[in-house]
Amino acid sequence: MKCPACGKYTMKKCCCGKETFSPKPAKYSPEDSYGSYRRQVKKPMLKERGLL
Ligand SMILES: [Zn+2]
Repeated sequence: MKCPACGKYTMKKCCCGKETFSPKPAKYSPEDSYGSYRRQVKKPMLKERGLL
């Protein structure tokens, strides 16, 4: 976990009177966003192929 106030890593839920957060949130993944981007690029290409 990381403190948003002092930026230090800690295992505590709170630091500097603020809630700490996980530096690697499970919700956001660079690979997923990249994959969705690739899917967005692929889809129109497949559509063009289907039309041709
Ligand atoms: Zn802190």
